[in-house]
Amino acid sequence: MVLSKQVGVIGGGAAGFFAALRIAETNRDFQVSVLEKGNKVLGKVKVSGGGRCNVTHDAPYASHLLPQYPRGKSFLKKVYKQFSATDTVAWFEARGVALKVEEDGRMFPVTDSSQTVIDCLLGEANRLGVRVRVGSGVKQISVKGASGFEVELFSGVRHHYDVLVVAVGGYPKSASYDWLRNMGHTIVEPVPSLFTFNLPKNPWKGLEGISVPKAEVRVQGTSLVYGGPLLVTHWGLSGPAVLRTSAWGARVFAEKGYQTTLQVCWLPEVPEEQLRSQLAMYREEHSQRTVAKYPLFDLPRRLWERMLLWSDIKEDMVWESVPKKGINRLVENVLRAPAVMSGKTTFKEEFVTAGGIALEELDPYTMQSRLVPGLYFAGEVLDIDGVTGGYNFQAAWSTGWVAGTHLGKSKS
Ligand SMILES: Cc1cc2nc3c(=O)[nH]c(=O)nc-3n(C[C@H](O)[C@H](O)[C@H](O)COP(=O)(O)OP(=O)(O)OC[C@H]3O[C@@H](n4cnc5c(N)ncnc54)[C@H](O)[C@@H]3O)c2cc1C
Repeated sequence: MVLSKQVGVIGGGAAGFFAALRIAETNRDFQVSVLEKGNKVLGKVKVSGGGRCNVTHDAPYASHLLPQYPRGKSFLKKVYKQFSATDTVAWFEARGVALKVEEDGRMFPVTDSSQTVIDCLLGEANRLGVRVRVGSGVKQISVKGASGFEVELFSGVRHHYDVLVVAVGGYPKSASYDWLRNMGHTIVEPVPSLFTFNLPKNPWKGLEGISVPKAEVRVQGTSLVYGGPLLVTHWGLSGPAVLRTSAWGARVFAEKGYQTTLQVCWLPEVPEEQLRSQLAMYREEHSQRTVAKYPLFDLPRRLWERMLLWSDIKEDMVWESVPKKGINRLVENVLRAPAVMSGKTTFKEEFVTAGGIALEELDPYTMQSRLVPGLYFAGEVLDIDGVTGGYNFQAAWSTGWVAGTHLGKSKS
């Protein structure tokens, strides 16, 4: 049988595989080849979610997903109309990968192993006759108009493809996108997202492991304020509140060279007035009680003791002997504790690149380039990124599926 079109999918990650599988199942006449630079495919799927792969988020409607994307929200709105989180769950379940929802909405395979996802994707590729070529890094693409594309590998080998999907993920360096710029596409400068904060001289040193379920991080001199669980680490702060701040502030942090001052609010749900009146009441009702012995507002004991230390409230002080100044300082340390950020650390569970192919140059209903017919894009190579929680894979599955569907339906 002569296959009618040669399709090249560049990048053997989540987006590349979803695109390749969808093309192959939509049009059995197309020969689909995945070209992967590394010596194995689906490397990020393997390490994702601490080896468990947070496949997606429990979100019955696209409107639940969209607010979780600092970049790409309105583009994704059109993509998610075609393939959303519920479709991802159904897709995997139909192929024998049952997913479970955790308390915070993240979805994982019931096996708690990313290998289950990999086995499914590789099994499908095998079933559908998708060729997977590892060690095939693409160096350059030449656009040949109506005759398709010539793809040159780093090895010097050249292949001809009628249509292409570029799903190469994010690159930390701008120059790494040059081969895509050469085809006329604009690259929104890449910066990292989803990192934790280094605070070498933070007020919570020695309290590693302490966490509070709801705190708030503010970046001084900006409007960035994000809340959620907060964790004290060896090098500074981590946890969802920090990751959210890093995602929404990815560009601001890059501009500041990752040097700035933060303010941490440990009790964002208690307004200052209420905090002050509760402290005053406590001072009156428990005047002889040692302040350090009874942490207020369910704050972890060691954190409370540290706040007292920074507020000049001595270990053996009873409430009655705390001066007004001490109360004022305590309020500051609870609501607006300052900490100087100096650098960032990669969050090992998940990190992504903000920036990439400019979205206005793509059609969100097909994922096809508006500049180069026959060229499609999917996944993190686009200027789309989400916060942590399964949103980044969801964007990769959906954009891959949409590209695959439309490419697969294109004329043979
Ligand atoms: C440690 C870690 C954990 C993560 N955990 C989660 C998680 O649990 N949930 C979640 O939603 N997101 C997670 N993410 C983010 C998620 O992995 C990515 O957003 C997602 O993998 C993007 O998929 P992709 O296919 O676009 O890109 P990638 O997965 O990066 O795949 C791109 C592929 O293209 C290949 N490639 C690059 N250049 C070339 C070239 N020139 N020629 C040929 N091949 C090339 C790369 O080698 C790679 O295999 C995590 C990220 C990291 C780093």
